[in-house]
Amino acid sequence: MFNLPPGFHEAAQSITSLDVLQTKACEGDVPPSLPSFRHSGWEKHRERVIAAMGTIPHLAQRTARFKSCGADSWVVQDKDDSSHVMLVGSYCGDRFCKPCALARSHVLAENVHSKAPPGPYRLVTLTLPSSHVLSEVLTHLFDSWKRFRLSPLFKDRVTGGVCFLEITHSLEKGWHPHFHLVCVGNYWRYADLNALWSRCARVPVTVVDIRRARDLPAVLCYLTRYASKLVPPSISSSLNLLTTAIAALASRRSISTFGTWRGLRLLSPLPSEYEWRLCGTLSWVHAEARQGNPQAGRLLMYLNHPEIIHAQWTDVFPNKSPPPLQNVLFPTNPIM
Ligand SMILES: [Zn+2]
Repeated sequence: MFNLPPGFHEAAQSITSLDVLQTKACEGDVPPSLPSFRHSGWEKHRERVIAAMGTIPHLAQRTARFKSCGADSWVVQDKDDSSHVMLVGSYCGDRFCKPCALARSHVLAENVHSKAPPGPYRLVTLTLPSSHVLSEVLTHLFDSWKRFRLSPLFKDRVTGGVCFLEITHSLEKGWHPHFHLVCVGNYWRYADLNALWSRCARVPVTVVDIRRARDLPAVLCYLTRYASKLVPPSISSSLNLLTTAIAALASRRSISTFGTWRGLRLLSPLPSEYEWRLCGTLSWVHAEARQGNPQAGRLLMYLNHPEIIHAQWTDVFPNKSPPPLQNVLFPTNPIM
């Protein structure tokens, strides 16, 4: 787990539009006050998501889960490397939750790295004309995609891959949902791909793109970029647009696999290759550090790393329940 190939992080950081990779959660010498550690850097956006979800009656349970994301966080430490630390907790996993979406894209990239067949990989974009009614254009897009992937020509060209939905919006043209694909298979001429997609979309003019990925790190960057980026700031900054997007997407999958990749379980975390010990709750470590505890201070310094991992408790300790929150001890006297 958490073992991406050399060059991945450097390549990822060179892409300036990957704002979700450059989390502000851990910047600076002094950690942000709790309980906002996990969600610092996107509080206003998060409040808008909560407000938008709150207006959709059948999403009450999902809203409650979203609101409590990361409420109980624990600091864990690699038994063989004390500087290797991680936060574990119960997280909502919602696609509109920025840290959860980022974590999911990393799980996807790690799985592709370890399970996907060797390339060459091709990166494909499938679009439709924009519409001012999101639910209509989403139905059009998903129906077209189904016809496309079931067509004999698609099956002849593509053996498997993964598909992500992205939605953009402009005041003039309206909603523009589209798919990004990573796939493996045979060479596919642009003109043939374009003709098939136009036929499946049943519209005369469509825009598609296909290019061969440079190497595996480039594929992983692409995955991390698009699998975590469902809506851009132009949508997330507007309560009305956000509410429309959340309601229209409630019954739609934003990431799916197809062909031979379907059985790879690309969204299930890989087993951890490290042995973790539990140090204490994040709030306890934070409070101890403020009172001058050097061990807690060191832990916080490690937690300030910009690539700090947030993992689900059940993925790290699948057979153990979290101990009572008040039961926290020093890293030298771990409780697990
Ligand atoms: Zn979350």
